[in-house]
Amino acid sequence: MNVIPMWYFPDTKRLDAEKLLQAEGNKHGSFLIRECESQPGELSMSVLDEGKVKHYKIKRSDNGHYFVSKRRTFITLKELVEYYSTTEDGLCVRLTQPCRKATAPQTHGLSYNTADQWEIPRSSICLLRKLGSGQFGEVYEGLWNSTTAVAVKTLRQGSMNSQDFLREAQIMKKLRHPKLIQLYAVCTVGEPIYIITELMTHGSLLEYLQKDRGEFVGMPDQVEMGAQVAAGMAYLEIQNYIHRDLAARNVLVGDNNTCKVADFGLARVFNSEGDGVYDYEDNEDERVYEMRQGTKLPIKWTAPEGLHDNKFTIKSDVWSFGILLYEIMTFGQTPYPTLTNFQVMQRLRTNYRMPCPANCPKRIYDIMMECWKDSPPDRPTFETLQWKLEEFYDVDISEYDDTNSY
Ligand code: AMP
Repeated sequence: MNVIPMWYFPDTKRLDAEKLLQAEGNKHGSFLIRECESQPGELSMSVLDEGKVKHYKIKRSDNGHYFVSKRRTFITLKELVEYYSTTEDGLCVRLTQPCRKATAPQTHGLSYNTADQWEIPRSSICLLRKLGSGQFGEVYEGLWNSTTAVAVKTLRQGSMNSQDFLREAQIMKKLRHPKLIQLYAVCTVGEPIYIITELMTHGSLLEYLQKDRGEFVGMPDQVEMGAQVAAGMAYLEIQNYIHRDLAARNVLVGDNNTCKVADFGLARVFNSEGDGVYDYEDNEDERVYEMRQGTKLPIKWTAPEGLHDNKFTIKSDVWSFGILLYEIMTFGQTPYPTLTNFQVMQRLRTNYRMPCPANCPKRIYDIMMECWKDSPPDRPTFETLQWKLEEFYDVDISEYDDTNSY
């Protein structure tokens, strides 16, 4: 009978591995081996070293043997673990004990309670304090049924057609992922419409970065934030869903720099200010949305095919993700800081792209430039973006090896 080793944590993401290893009960040298969810077959080993977690790629040689360093290969992972439990041999620390498994129960939040009860009575929501105001209304911290903390988005009268919204909300409620803001319930009977979602302690990523300006948030955190957004978007990608307004203002931050994508799909149902109405034709095959002339667009975040031909796909979300990465790297600077919206539209026609921001690693800028490829199919998938960012700091010892040494 095959027994799953204590140290094998399949489907565990880099960030989750860090959280697990940094939890109580682990010690110097605690470790786990994980299989990357987005890259089946790719293995990494995460090791706790004086409170910090280091990640090593585990590679396979042509004959299928496992190795961290090409100098020594192993037929099985178990042998690899046994070897590095006796000696560091190039790792930061000798492996000591498998990471403890989390025992805390997963909570389903309010969504669990409202699984069949989508519309909830307005009286069950108590608005506590205003958190901010957006283009279409105000956002409050609220309490549902006097027990559950929630965020309540109140929509200004006329900002959307409630039938359109409800149709979209039915889809949005089914989208569940740890890196997406969970939509819990709605109040659409009477005005204003309430959208009730999960509450995030630190508000929008844009404000969070602008406030921090690099004081507490460093490059590894910035890369990690990008990875989290890419993870949420990779989920939308496989669900064939398009965000259409991906930007730092639409990502929310919780404790420990947790980032979640918010407001997905809402741009589709909002009436824009003035008389331009968001309108679209849904092409089922290509998930392309066309918008009527006069619609207001976030110009600096919108892909050229969106600006010029009103075409919106997951690949135009990838373009916006490149802009969002720029916002993350610059601590919330407005993209194309010296250009007006009109100038941006003109410059994009001549293939202009923003230069690499100060202090931004070249490899991150390369990712932005990939997202800004003119031809949508040439842009990466969110799945690729996710693993590139998740593995950004993984150590690949084999790169430093003498290639002939094994
Ligand atoms: P929005 O209308 O989505 O642009 O939201 C306006 C502001 O309210 C944001 O910039 C956030 O600071 C805050 N906010 C929105 N949603 C939430 C939430 N779920 N949790 C905490 N703060 C939020």
